[in-house]
Amino acid sequence: MRNLSAAELLTAWERALGQSPVQQALVLLAAAYPEHSPEQLAQFSVGQRDACLLTLRERLFGSQLNSVTACPQCQQRIELVFTVPDIRVEPTMTDPIAPAGEAMTLTIEGYRVHFRLPNSLDLASIETITDVNQAREQLLRRCIQSVVREGANSDDGEPVNNPTPLPLPLVDAIAERMAEADAQADTRLALSCPDCSHEWRATFDIATYMAAEIYNWVKHILREVHSLARSYGWREADILAMTPTRRRAYLELLDHG
Ligand SMILES: [Zn+2]
Repeated sequence: MRNLSAAELLTAWERALGQSPVQQALVLLAAAYPEHSPEQLAQFSVGQRDACLLTLRERLFGSQLNSVTACPQCQQRIELVFTVPDIRVEPTMTDPIAPAGEAMTLTIEGYRVHFRLPNSLDLASIETITDVNQAREQLLRRCIQSVVREGANSDDGEPVNNPTPLPLPLVDAIAERMAEADAQADTRLALSCPDCSHEWRATFDIATYMAAEIYNWVKHILREVHSLARSYGWREADILAMTPTRRRAYLELLDHG
């Protein structure tokens, strides 16, 4: 992994412009992880992708994350402040993140299912599906590699060619197994409302968060470049190469004439 300079981040933003959030995340990762090909990055499991994004976010903008949500019970607006370590799932020796693409097997309800973890290509394929159940079904269909209805002997079994609709307990079990194996893919914040004490868990998506954050950063830095270039005639590349502190110092000088 490499650190991205302001100029490189700006270039990545430009490259990702107009693309879907899933594609934008891949463009960012391609810039920061040149040791992996874009094809490899796209096949990282969603949890692996998010772990990489969290590391990149920490290096770019620090560890603190700020978000705003509303209490689902009383609609009170709540400001959230948390850190990357708060939401990072550390893979341990006893609970390693399953390598992306590696087949997992589950036997339940008389079915034996081989499946893999969802990756960015799978997410991209369901981005335009608005119905949650339909999206979930499509995602599963892509990740399930084979389904066998078990015979009397555990060795023989009848392959099921069209595995949908799968029994709901089976679908739930696969989803649960995926979440266990790739915990970083499903980041949830345990929240409690200071007004009505309602407690709930909210999903946090680092890809969406970073897309918005980088958009705001770009607006800000382009304004700085614009002001400094107009006043001093400096080149964009030279202004971007300055530390934020030095850019701010010059801008303050301009403000106070
Ligand atoms: Zn509340």
